[in-house]
Amino acid sequence: MKNCPDCGVPVGEKHKDGCDVERCPHCGGQALGCVGFDPNDPRREPWTGKWPGEADCERLGFFINGDRSLPDLNRLFAECRWNPEQQRWEHDPAPAGWRRGH
Ligand SMILES: [Zn+2]
Ligand SMILES: [Zn+2]
Repeated sequence: MKNCPDCGVPVGEKHKDGCDVERCPHCGGQALGCVGFDPNDPRREPWTGKWPGEADCERLGFFINGDRSLPDLNRLFAECRWNPEQQRWEHDPAPAGWRRGH
């Protein structure tokens, strides 16, 4: 397993402040620059060896062209909702026609 590509911590350790890989526990987005991010939040996650969202794509089966080495993060952010209690993305399918319609 590799160290975090930005702040360099080994797998299992929490990211250093200002790391642009860390995910915000509050909104699921990038922690760096998020107004809702609290550096003292106990839910801050350690570096897992994967980019935030990749494990969610694997759980939900979101892959580009079905290729399991290419997690489809765009689809994750488009179709899922961040669940701050579970600290994970959850599929939130809109009613039929809601996204394309109007
Ligand atoms: Zn980091
Ligand atoms: Zn946030």
